[in-house]
Amino acid sequence: MHDCYSTAVRTRRVVGLAGVAVLWNELFRHGATDPAALVPNLTATSAWPLALALQRCPRCRRGDLFAGIIAMHRTCPVCRLDLEPEVGYYTGAMVVSYVLSIPLLTLVAVVVGLITRWDLGPVIVSASFLYLALVVPLFRYARSIWLYLDWWLNPGSFRTS
Ligand SMILES: [Zn+2]
Repeated sequence: MHDCYSTAVRTRRVVGLAGVAVLWNELFRHGATDPAALVPNLTATSAWPLALALQRCPRCRRGDLFAGIIAMHRTCPVCRLDLEPEVGYYTGAMVVSYVLSIPLLTLVAVVVGLITRWDLGPVIVSASFLYLALVVPLFRYARSIWLYLDWWLNPGSFRTS
């Protein structure tokens, strides 16, 4: 009985791993390591949320906005759109970061509170430490959203170099 159960579990694991391998092979069989390469029409008007999620240029939607973990390209590597139209351009991204951070920190605190059943003080301290793991993604998305907002509202202010 026990052996039968173990065999069934083992079989399910092997089948699951094979499924992942097949999916991986399907997605990357042409050597495409770029997630955007898997999306046939990222430049379609309706594809902007995906381009934003992938942190791509708001104009061509193909060029990466970031050159490193937090370093941005000065211009889009594909269409040469100037990604920093003026000095201090991304100061406004701090507002976006704040707007994103408050609900996110609240969510982390609620989850920590529900899991641990601790008092409010330790929950807030713990949630703050956990929140630190989200700082880099938040920084990147705050800048990306700020850039997309400006691109929609004021595309004429951007130059190509
Ligand atoms: Zn571009």
